[in-house]
Amino acid sequence: MDFKILVLIFVALSTAYNIALNIIRYRSANNPTPQSVSDVYDAETYQKWKEYSAEHCRFDIISGAVSGVISLILLATNVYSAFANLFPSDNIHLQLLAVIILEVTINTVLGSIFSYVKVMIIEEKYGFNRSSKKTFVFDQIRSLIVSLMLCVALAEAMTLLEISKWLVIAFGAIVFCGMLLISFIYPSLSRIGNKFPPLEDGELKERLLEMLSRHGYSVKAIEVMDASRRTTKLNAYIAGFGKTKSIVLYDNMLEKMSTDEICAIFAHEMGHGLHKDVLKGQFFNIGYITLISALVYIAVAVPEFYTQFGFESVNYGFAYLLVSAGLGVLQPLTSMAMNAHSRAAEYAADRQAVIEGYGKPMITAFKKLAKDNFANLSPSKINVVLEYSHPPIHSRVEAVEKAMAELAQSRENR
Ligand SMILES: [Zn+2]
Repeated sequence: MDFKILVLIFVALSTAYNIALNIIRYRSANNPTPQSVSDVYDAETYQKWKEYSAEHCRFDIISGAVSGVISLILLATNVYSAFANLFPSDNIHLQLLAVIILEVTINTVLGSIFSYVKVMIIEEKYGFNRSSKKTFVFDQIRSLIVSLMLCVALAEAMTLLEISKWLVIAFGAIVFCGMLLISFIYPSLSRIGNKFPPLEDGELKERLLEMLSRHGYSVKAIEVMDASRRTTKLNAYIAGFGKTKSIVLYDNMLEKMSTDEICAIFAHEMGHGLHKDVLKGQFFNIGYITLISALVYIAVAVPEFYTQFGFESVNYGFAYLLVSAGLGVLQPLTSMAMNAHSRAAEYAADRQAVIEGYGKPMITAFKKLAKDNFANLSPSKINVVLEYSHPPIHSRVEAVEKAMAELAQSRENR
């Protein structure tokens, strides 16, 4: 079997896929704005945003094609093995280091050029750029160092598979436990460097507590996080477990949303809690880690992957590149499944807000959020199915309206 051709086909396919997505996204700017969200932006602002995002899309299409072609040329001409063979062939650590340094340097240089155009030219032109040239250079150097360290660590860990390829299962288990641990300690981590004063007594606090007690939740405290220093995002979440649970509201939200709208967003978050969505998400994590483990196993178990690219034996730096090529093709499929599940969970959580009596403020909150995040009001269905973890804004508005009508109907029938 020709493994080299297989890898080249994988790289070509994922390049073509990403270009196609951008072309569809580019063309979606011409879609008419759905009636249900026509009042989100004024016409002039939206027109400016459309031009800005079209320019981004055009550039993503070009840069995607350029980096795809460069990857294909580097692979087809065995550049990686030619560079690695400059070093002693019996030292697997030097060999993998050579490939990783070449790989990461090429990626970072290309990435820096592309993001320079995006940030310093396109964003600057539309007045969105917030970083200076100095910060830009600093960020690029920092990302080069971080990715070098990360890739070397990963490739070095892969060399342990020399002992037994089945160790890949242990790796998968360690990664999964690490992810679980992070999701458990994240609420405590986010406390570092932020202030969490309690929410003042008043109508909002009473309503939130009442909503929670109706579902048998009791909480230790309702806190306001001073998130506005770092982000313009609006958010609310339930942190902690059992009797030590607390509710965290972003201060941005108290500023921009009405009491009814905050209750609606909170009811949505409570819906996620009632439906155990975080727990369900773990099954997808297990599936995803299994896929990566299988790819790693295949990448190190087939020596032809290396000999056909000019190496004498398995090179763990190149194995890292092979796994990314495999992921480039398989990830769209897994993320499509994950996103479909996530969108269904969002609709269900929105429905919870309707059930709690906050359908109308949920809709106005959506519109404020869409305006704040510069959301695309008319994305193409294909982009939504392939890459949206949340339904587009008009679908959410329409679903809430429908749920409100159904609920009113069923109350009438009773
Ligand atoms: Zn949600």
